[in-house]
Amino acid sequence: MKYVFGPVPSRRLGQSLGIDPVPLKTCNWNCVYCQLGRSKPLTNERREYFPREEIIAEVEQALATHKAGEIDWVTFVGSGETTLHTSIGWLIRQVKSLTRLPVAVITNGSLLYLPEMRLELSPADAVLPSLDAGDARLYRKINRPHPEVSFVRLIEGPVAFLKEYQGKLWVEVMLVQGLNDTEAALREIAAALKSIQPDEVHILQPTRPPAETWVQPSDEEGLLRARAILGDIARVIHPSSGSFDLSGAESLVEAVIGIITRHPMREDELIETLKHFSQGEVSATLTELEKCGKAQVVERFGTRFWSASPAYYPSWKSQ
Ligand code: SF4
Repeated sequence: MKYVFGPVPSRRLGQSLGIDPVPLKTCNWNCVYCQLGRSKPLTNERREYFPREEIIAEVEQALATHKAGEIDWVTFVGSGETTLHTSIGWLIRQVKSLTRLPVAVITNGSLLYLPEMRLELSPADAVLPSLDAGDARLYRKINRPHPEVSFVRLIEGPVAFLKEYQGKLWVEVMLVQGLNDTEAALREIAAALKSIQPDEVHILQPTRPPAETWVQPSDEEGLLRARAILGDIARVIHPSSGSFDLSGAESLVEAVIGIITRHPMREDELIETLKHFSQGEVSATLTELEKCGKAQVVERFGTRFWSASPAYYPSWKSQ
């Protein structure tokens, strides 16, 4: 499958069937912590990146091949900014007509200021926009946005959306050590959240390979500070440790590439995912991954991660 992957485990969304509607790193942000590497080039162009009928045909097929209880949510998420696909609203409506499963959209939220975008996302059961900074300066430093998606618009969007939206709005805050986990930065974020009034705030950590080598997750103290300052609606989301579904691809290697294109994996996590296969198959898969040119090993936090090879992670040497 080209556009649908998983189900993959998610702390918030259980076993989540992923729909990836844009090519790798098609994004209007270039976050320092992005697990998919740097955005090259940055784009704010909305268009039909992949034929919408092909995407829906794959969703239909994936839903048909999984038994009741194997999927908890159908989630638009993946290798770039989901809302840059011009048919995101049509895709959500089609999925809702195919299944009673709840539908979530993971987005950076930068286009919610557009009235048509708010309308398109309205049938989703949950929308999860990002908010990593409470002021324009830190927003530019962490998210490095396209010039058309300003900080003012980033805040205006969810405020306007929640005036009409019936589903859940869960704001994600990615905590980066020394950038937005200081008391001053968290107080600014809390003020912005006060004007948005989301249903929940999810505090995340960059635990997968960040685009920039110097990015570090916040520490225990930073997490406690964030919980205290962001208030009762905020909770820390720890990475999930469930199993990744590797069915639905032509080969084991293709299935692994399908996952790591959207979710780079620690090498030990990848080996754990392959535990149902024989030792020989696991070794052959790792060898084939190295040789096929579609995967790469990225070293961050002293750990080896497997990621899709077109993703660009500068090394210390190339900084
Ligand atoms: S983390 Fe999301 S919003 Fe940020 S650059 Fe990566 S894909 Fe874009």
